[in-house]
Amino acid sequence: MLPRFWRKIRYRYNLVGTKCENCGRIYYPPRNLCPECRRKSSMKEIELSNEGTVLSYSVVYEAPESFKLMKPYVVALIQLDDGVKILSQLACKPEEVKIGMRVKATFRKYGEDGERGIIYYGTKFAPA
Ligand code: ZN
Repeated sequence: MLPRFWRKIRYRYNLVGTKCENCGRIYYPPRNLCPECRRKSSMKEIELSNEGTVLSYSVVYEAPESFKLMKPYVVALIQLDDGVKILSQLACKPEEVKIGMRVKATFRKYGEDGERGIIYYGTKFAPA
């Protein structure tokens, strides 16, 4: 069994990812297995910076059913201040987003997909 470390919800105000100690890759959302190293992977939780800069973005007009009320929404590639790049939904209007804009993590929820080893964080980013 894999350790269910993500149950320890101690990081309410910090963005947490996982780092594979075998190859050094950092994953966000956290994973309990490194897709590159698989059985050799040794995952460790790491805290990520809560702030970053928008590198690129796209506006999504076709949303899944559960996102309907928020359509269209913005998904941005964000470079966190510690250098990690993540993809996140941005809580702002499509006309407000700009490349190079400063953003901050705002909100989170927890869920997991045990089969694929992916842990979902509902963290969104908003203009800082
Ligand atoms: Zn790895």
